[in-house]
Amino acid sequence: MSIKYVHSFEESFNAEKIRDLGSVNFKELGLSDDLIDSISYMGFEKATPIQEQAIPKILDGKDLIACAQTGTGKTAAFILPIINKLAAKETKGISTVVICPTRELAIQIDQQINGFTYFTSISSIAIYGGGDGDSWDEQKKALTSGVDIVVATPGKFIAHLNMGYMDLTTIEHVILDEADRMLDIGFHDDILRIFSYFPKDRQTLMFSATMPRKIRDLAQEILKEPDEISIAISKPAEGVMQLIYLCYDPLKTKMIKRLIDGKDSLKTIIIFSSTKREVSQIVRDLRNKNYLVEGISSDLDQSEREAVLIRFRSKQCRVLVATDVMSRGIDIKDINLVINYNVPNDAEDYVHRIGRTARADTTGIAVTLVNEEEMYKFLRIERLIEKEILKSPIPADIGESPKWNPSASQKKSGGNFRGKGKGPRRKLR
Ligand code: AMP
Repeated sequence: MSIKYVHSFEESFNAEKIRDLGSVNFKELGLSDDLIDSISYMGFEKATPIQEQAIPKILDGKDLIACAQTGTGKTAAFILPIINKLAAKETKGISTVVICPTRELAIQIDQQINGFTYFTSISSIAIYGGGDGDSWDEQKKALTSGVDIVVATPGKFIAHLNMGYMDLTTIEHVILDEADRMLDIGFHDDILRIFSYFPKDRQTLMFSATMPRKIRDLAQEILKEPDEISIAISKPAEGVMQLIYLCYDPLKTKMIKRLIDGKDSLKTIIIFSSTKREVSQIVRDLRNKNYLVEGISSDLDQSEREAVLIRFRSKQCRVLVATDVMSRGIDIKDINLVINYNVPNDAEDYVHRIGRTARADTTGIAVTLVNEEEMYKFLRIERLIEKEILKSPIPADIGESPKWNPSASQKKSGGNFRGKGKGPRRKLR
């Protein structure tokens, strides 16, 4: 295989042509004029490919199984046609349930619904765990007084179901979002239990970033003759400019500083690392150099995580350091640069990590720092995304770079992808 090398960050930035995703106007997809006004009010000009394909099918009443990753505009793809239908008629009771894996995602979906329904009487509520007694009462009130759309995590939805006060006979549309992730978390039985309460005569939509066997099996159980849409399975959004730096571990923090120092146009930066310990270490290192940096990992409770995300969104902090747990579902607009401090063990996580940049039709940069033992792991990612990524040595004044040699790295790590590259001893000072 030929190796594409570039020699500087700036050079790499210009090395690839970045393509726009959307080309079709929402008007062409059969949505009402009022909704199209709300869509442009939200700043969406063109439909993304998943929206272009899914919206007409959903308007048609078809069940759907869609393979689309976060960042492709999948939320609007399922919620716009549903809102279009609800706006056209009198609704009685809960008409639509969206089931998703996490509280963060539930909040984001609900926020998009609020944006699109701002000028309508359609109501929605997000239901998720971790709230206080007040929020339970509020949720109960909404669920019993005929909210139109419920966005819920499975556990919390079941908790309300168990209380017996929800009327689900009015449900017409059910959406499972990030279905693969829900199964990974272990929600399979909960999902089937929830579906056992829904009317048989309904429209069901299932969205998943990947389509493993278990997802197809679940689809067979809950969907009826679904149409199928697949958008670039396991491939990053087109607008992401990807690059790897070949870098020994002890030099990675120095390299990060080089990437972000003096680049004022990079206003929002996320650094992903595999472990909580590394997150704390990177945050400490960068804070010592006076960067506005915050860390986010499962060490923080929900309210602390949300507070960090608010500070990041409002640009009070420029760099967010996060573990993989956070790599899915964070919806922050305009992330300019994603840095992978290490190569994720799971190739899908790579796609999710870099999916934080170039959301929808914007562009962004994703840089991965690859040590001598992570090269084979990265080669597997290249195979998965069917793309060879540009490779660069680190600048010589920072230090020596390992040579790109994935097969040697496979032997070194013994096929065990948890190996840590330590670099030459003299670099450890
Ligand atoms: P999603 O894939 O649903 O997580 O969406 C990713 C982000 O893209 C969200 O912040 C949306 O608000 C935004 N988005 C979705 N569709 C479009 C569109 N057609 N034009 C511009 N932005 C969009």
